[in-house]
Amino acid sequence: MIMQNYIQEALRTAAGGTPHTDKVPAFVLLELLLARVDTNTDIDAAKKSLFYGKAPTLNMESIRSSGPYQDTENASYAPVDFNVLHGVVGIDTEAAELVELLATAIQTGEPIDSGRVVDESGDLLWYLAILFDAVGINFEEVMEKNIQKLRVRYPEKFSEHLALNRNEAQETAHFH
Ligand SMILES: [Mg+2]
Repeated sequence: MIMQNYIQEALRTAAGGTPHTDKVPAFVLLELLLARVDTNTDIDAAKKSLFYGKAPTLNMESIRSSGPYQDTENASYAPVDFNVLHGVVGIDTEAAELVELLATAIQTGEPIDSGRVVDESGDLLWYLAILFDAVGINFEEVMEKNIQKLRVRYPEKFSEHLALNRNEAQETAHFH
């Protein structure tokens, strides 16, 4: 599948209409976005130390003693390909940079600069390329399978009912 066809197919299933802003006030979304930006500061620092050798700025002891999760003390890098890890963590940190642009716009009332979207989206694309290469897949295959999934979910077009009532097994059958 070529990119132009993917975009057409993706737009076919895009949600239209007015968002339900009465259900999620702007301050609630902003709080969640800002929390995500905070987390990203630490994840990005970890990425830069792990892959670029930067001196760690994280407080390891504080993370060790106050981490909220259970069963992390036996964590190991062993099962993970480092190119996969680099790709996934990079996708996350670059997505969070887009989140930061959005949070700033909501907070300041200034629209997002499209140049910044190009910049961060390019970074995101770069990490996707790293991940796809590490896993042995390609953009064409990913685009095709994504559209197949959406065709199962929305045979005609997007609807809120279909978005909320999915048959996950049927949708993902062609991935395996
Ligand atoms: Mg970036």
